[in-house]
Amino acid sequence: MTIEQSLHAVGAAVSAAAEASDRKPEDVALCAVSKMFDAPVIAEALAAGHRLFGENRVQESEGKWPALRKDYPDVSLHLIGPLQTNKCEDAVALFDVIQTVDRPKLARSLAKAEEKLGLKRQYYIQVNTGEEPQKAGATPAEADDLIRLCRDELGLTVVGLMCIPPVDDEAVLHFGLLSQIAARNNLSGLSMGMSGDYEMAIACGATLVRVGSAIFGDRPKPAA
Ligand SMILES: *Cc1c(COP(=O)(O)O)cnc(C)c1O
Repeated sequence: MTIEQSLHAVGAAVSAAAEASDRKPEDVALCAVSKMFDAPVIAEALAAGHRLFGENRVQESEGKWPALRKDYPDVSLHLIGPLQTNKCEDAVALFDVIQTVDRPKLARSLAKAEEKLGLKRQYYIQVNTGEEPQKAGATPAEADDLIRLCRDELGLTVVGLMCIPPVDDEAVLHFGLLSQIAARNNLSGLSMGMSGDYEMAIACGATLVRVGSAIFGDRPKPAA
């Protein structure tokens, strides 16, 4: 399958999953995760009309996206990987949406970067629903305070929550927990679901699914 064909197939599956839950297809966004893929591969997806992309590294994205954006200024680029405070200015400069806000220090750095650059971006709070020690994200218990800090104190535009469920657990439990935390904080955005489970995530209320390998194929191995 070409990338254009995969995009159509995944797009159709997203629409079907939305309709199966009595939701509108346009209420579920498909974020094509292009991490590790080179610009020519991404350009195929752009040429096929896709405009919403996710990347997990700031530096890698700085090498690929400024040139692609020149040809496709209406792209929306999301950061879905961990962010260090010393990279906040670079991230705010490049990404339209940052999905991985997970601690107060990072939130404060992002607010400073916005002010310095004179830019406003959109943010998701990442929640470590599985409370895995090695994984990024605020714990479910910390999430409410972090949302309040970002929204009310720092004035960040928080549009929703994001999670990456533990690999060996029932994803549906984590999707349910994320949607509960969102509901009690009046947040409508739910970034959840990847290639293996995006249809289930949509049944649980996902408004944005992050799909990589089902669109682009297996990721290239990192350079040694
Ligand atoms: C890589 C990645 C994805 C996409 O994973 P696939 O299984 O290839 O669809 C989604 N979300 C995050 C946070 C990722 O890092």
